[in-house]
Amino acid sequence: MTTRTPLTKNQVSRLRFMLDNDYSYRAMAKDFGCCTDTLKRMLVREGLAEFDGAKYAVSPASKAEVAMWSRACLRCKDDKPRPKWQYICDRCKGNVDVSGLPDSFIEAMNTGVDDVDEI
Ligand SMILES: [Zn+2]
Repeated sequence: MTTRTPLTKNQVSRLRFMLDNDYSYRAMAKDFGCCTDTLKRMLVREGLAEFDGAKYAVSPASKAEVAMWSRACLRCKDDKPRPKWQYICDRCKGNVDVSGLPDSFIEAMNTGVDDVDEI
């Protein structure tokens, strides 16, 4: 579980390239020859992405209250405050295609809703 290999500059820019080009985390992990968990940790460590869930968190955050953030919606760039870890605004949530997205992403979009078809 403790893969602490530091990334080279090339690897970091490759990660960035893949993020910019909408690679799935699975594809990125495959490219790096690791599992998606490791990939996500690398992204978090490099500050390229953030994920929900204790296993990626740097410190145990307060789970009790719903934190808000004003991150721009991934679909329409709307930056009205949303519950933290919700990457897509409510308006876009309804008609989003979730195929190929990582589980944590889908969970973030569907907090409390249980009607997502498995890929
Ligand atoms: Zn939106």
